[in-house]
Amino acid sequence: QAKQMGRDCAVAYRSTFEQDTAARLTLISQLREALRLQQFVLHFQPIMAPDGRTVGLEALVRWQHPERGLLPPGEFIEECERSGLIVPLGRWVMLEAGRVAGLLRAAGHALRISVNVSALQLRQSLLEDARDVVAQHDLAPGMIELELTESSVMGDPAAGVQIMRALRDLGFEVAIDDFGTGFSSLAYLKRLPINRLKIDRGFVCDIPGDSEDAEICHSIIRLAQTLGLKTVAEGVETQAQHDWLVAQGCDELQGFLFARPMPIDALHAWLAERRAARAA
Ligand code: C2E
Ligand code: MG
Ligand code: MG
Ligand code: MG
Repeated sequence: QAKQMGRDCAVAYRSTFEQDTAARLTLISQLREALRLQQFVLHFQPIMAPDGRTVGLEALVRWQHPERGLLPPGEFIEECERSGLIVPLGRWVMLEAGRVAGLLRAAGHALRISVNVSALQLRQSLLEDARDVVAQHDLAPGMIELELTESSVMGDPAAGVQIMRALRDLGFEVAIDDFGTGFSSLAYLKRLPINRLKIDRGFVCDIPGDSEDAEICHSIIRLAQTLGLKTVAEGVETQAQHDWLVAQGCDELQGFLFARPMPIDALHAWLAERRAARAA
């Protein structure tokens, strides 16, 4: 009895550090299981041209958790990065995105597919993952875009840039995600082998009303034009944001205004509907 109580007390007084560690270990073992049991799924969000054409899709991972339901990446990506599980997960995402690209192409939708890549994956397996996906699904490398953040490139710029250059030489597209939230120097940006800047959602949400954010978006678009890069605005939710960005010369747009990220079945239906609407 006393022993049992002692144990309860010990539990009650366990430091938050230990509790965090225990929770992390549980999560890591669940994530490992999730990879083995294939509990991850990809959702796809359309990327649009100013004229309303769908030009690409961003693959966004979710975890179909057996008890907690469908979990967004915010619930598990960070732990995958800390534990190194992001490397096998990132590889799975790449191969699954390629499989879907192949399926869509067979259905007559030749769309670029963008995949998010973490710093560790960039350095450990990206080149191999990218080569494998085009070989396995007989894709042109230009159909695959790799989204890297400023921080994942800048962590070890020399190594990162070398891999990015190899990818570009193979014909893959490369984008900088969440652009404007990191601290990449303009000198580096000029030398980076990239095709696109994705303007972070945080700068898009209050335009055109917020004059500082409007100035930032305007500057990013101008900078990209100067460097010969394309721009994609993330998080476009209103027609006013859309119209303003298009007037500024933004090349592509992505956000809830057009569609939320969807599972593959819903995506097929969405694409078919858009195609019918545009043909009519
Ligand atoms: P991200 O790459 O910047 O992806 C865009 C996020 O913004 C997605 O959140 C998307 O659902 C959300 N979003 C898109 N349009 C709108 C909009 O109009 N309004 C608002 N409020 N949100 C919008 P999600 O799917 O929760 O992904 C969050 C982040 O998780 C991603 O940010 C990316 O950094 C990371 N992530 C997702 N999938 C992967 C993956 O396969 N690998 C890695 N390494 N990271 C991933
Ligand atoms: Mg992204
Ligand atoms: Mg982003
Ligand atoms: Mg983001």
